[in-house]
Amino acid sequence: MNEPDLGNISVVLVNTSHPGNIGASARAMKNMGLSKLALVGPKEFPSGVAIGRAASAVEILSRARVVDSLAEAVADCGLVIGASARSRRITWPLLTPAECGRRAVAEAGKHPVALVFGREDTGLSNEELQLCHYHVRIPANPEYPSLNLAAAVMVVCYELRRAVEAGETGDETLERQWDQPLATADDLERFYGHLEQVLVALDFHDPENPRQLMQRLRRLFGRIRIDTMEMNILRGMLGHIEQELKNKR
Ligand code: SAH
Repeated sequence: MNEPDLGNISVVLVNTSHPGNIGASARAMKNMGLSKLALVGPKEFPSGVAIGRAASAVEILSRARVVDSLAEAVADCGLVIGASARSRRITWPLLTPAECGRRAVAEAGKHPVALVFGREDTGLSNEELQLCHYHVRIPANPEYPSLNLAAAVMVVCYELRRAVEAGETGDETLERQWDQPLATADDLERFYGHLEQVLVALDFHDPENPRQLMQRLRRLFGRIRIDTMEMNILRGMLGHIEQELKNKR
C-alpha cells in the first residue's frame, strides 16, 4: 500500500491545563502513527506527569513545538481542522470524524495539515475556530458530549489510521489534482487583515458594529480553498482599490 504522509499531519493542543492530557495525547498519536505535536501556551510543560502518561511516546514530547498562538502553530498549513463538541452561533463546515480522517490523509501529500484541540474547560474560542477550514465533531451523548481531551485526540487520530488502512488516500480528490498549491493559513490571515482594512476604508465595514461580517467572509473564503495564484489576484485587487482611494482623496 502506498503509505500516505502522516508526518505532514500535526496535532495542535491549545492552552492545555493538565500535562497528563499532553502525555496521553502523545501516546494516542504514536499508537495511530502520528508524530508531530504542537503546544500553544501549555500551562505546564515540560512535565514529569506528561512523560509518565506518554509511555513509549516520549520522543513526541521532546520534539513538540511550543508556540504562543494558534495562528503561529498553523501558519504553514493548507488544511486546518478544529475539534469542537459544541455547535457555535455561526455555522461552519462540519466533518464527521471519518470524513476528517479521509480528508486529512488525502491532503497530507500536498501540504501540512493541522488537527486542533481546545482547552479542557472552555474548548476553542470563536476566534480560534474561525482559523479552521472545517470543524470536526465526535458524535456523543447529547447530555454529555464533551470528551476528555486525550480521548478526543484518540478518536480523531484513530480515524486517520482507519482511512490509511482502508486505502482511503483520496487520490481522486480535487485537492490532489489542483495545479497550484493552496494558500496557507498564514496567507489567509494576511488576506483577511488586508480585506478588513480595505472594507473599512471603503466605509463598507464598521469595526464598532461588525455584524459578524469578517466571520462570514472567513467562512466564505475558507469554504472555497483559495490557491496561491487566486490569492495573489485577490491581494492585487485589494491593492488597486487602496490605490484608487488614495488617488481620490
Ligand atoms: N467544555 C469544553 C470541552 C472541552 S474538551 C467545550 O464545551 O468546548 C477539550 C477538547 O477536546 C475540545 O476543545 C475539543 O477539541 C475536544 N473534544 C471534546 N469532545 C469533543 C467532541 N465531542 N467532538 C469533537 N471534539 C471534542
